[in-house]
Amino acid sequence: MATGPGRSGPILGAGSVLRLIRDGDAVTRAAIARRTGLARSTVAQRVDALLAHQLVYEAGDEASTGGRPATVLAFNHRAGVVLVADLGATHSRLALSDLSGQPLAEVAFDMEIADGPEAVLGSICEHFEALLERAGRHGGEVRGIGVGVPGPVDFPAGRPVNPPIMPGWDGFSIPGWFASRYDAPVLVDNDVNIMALGEHWSHWRELDHLLYVKVGTGIGSGIVSGRTIHRGADGAAGDIGHIRVSDHDDAVCRCGNLGCLEAVAGGRALALALSADGIDASGSREVVELVRAGRPEAILKVREAGRVLGDVLAGCVNFFNPGAIVVGGDIAEAQHHLLAGIREVVFQRSLPLATRDLTIANSRLGDRAGVIGAAIMVIDHVLAPEAVDRALQLSSVA
Ligand SMILES: [Zn+2]
Repeated sequence: MATGPGRSGPILGAGSVLRLIRDGDAVTRAAIARRTGLARSTVAQRVDALLAHQLVYEAGDEASTGGRPATVLAFNHRAGVVLVADLGATHSRLALSDLSGQPLAEVAFDMEIADGPEAVLGSICEHFEALLERAGRHGGEVRGIGVGVPGPVDFPAGRPVNPPIMPGWDGFSIPGWFASRYDAPVLVDNDVNIMALGEHWSHWRELDHLLYVKVGTGIGSGIVSGRTIHRGADGAAGDIGHIRVSDHDDAVCRCGNLGCLEAVAGGRALALALSADGIDASGSREVVELVRAGRPEAILKVREAGRVLGDVLAGCVNFFNPGAIVVGGDIAEAQHHLLAGIREVVFQRSLPLATRDLTIANSRLGDRAGVIGAAIMVIDHVLAPEAVDRALQLSSVA
């Protein structure tokens, strides 16, 4: 006996039918009718609307088991593009993706976020145009824009909130700035959140709960809970860099507190500690180079940073019980020394039940995690059932 979401709930629209096709849960008209409980004539109407808008196409016949073969419907991931930008403090990566999340063109370049929103977004826009041209697409095909920034964000409003390393950006409406240039929704999130989404979608989709930790100049984390980003009441969830660690009250953090995790174990802190020992290192990149060159002082410091981070993460594991902790950022890429320190402490300090199935691994996407996650965030938004229904309704009125 077929059961489905349509049996007792409201009548499902074309957007919900698109989701079934996109997820591969029901790909023929008969299967959609069985799955949703909608009348066959209603399913035919919904599918016709999706076909007319080129959101799906007929991909041939199902292998027949006798009787007339059914036509297989497939999601048309070429039905539009999304533009995304992962903005760092001094470096940015941009991508143009199709609606499956597959990047069609990418570019990375140095850029100072401290130059302020007008200068930075103006340059981003020029690069967006170049990406569209390179892929042979045009602005009218842009379905949505995603931007990740290195600071806290009021997600519903798309505005950075008191970002410490982004002078001039506090309260600036990024969607408002793009509104006159593209007729598409603009989503803005913290960079670590989109990285968490990118890693989860690319390599850990079978898990419901994941913690992504970025260890670069500073330290932050993105929480995937129930397969979606957990932002908290004000968008501050996951800011583990400012959790106090024990025995380090001599470390002054940029937030004004003493003994914060990132003031002890972040890339900037490690560079300062090495400099104090007479080893030349001005930032996290130099720390990574020293580790790669096999300098024991640097290896020792990175491994110890892993243990300090592990102490904080052990608490996070007990509290949140993720299926995986994925570690990214410059310092994580310095071979496996950071990871070794983290594993050592987390498995020792967390409750056995919380670590029974826990995996702790390095990021596999590296510095592409942000643009891939931003694309997924935007695609999920523009292809959400209610958004698709609204778009179809609007175009039938017009
Ligand atoms: Zn702090």
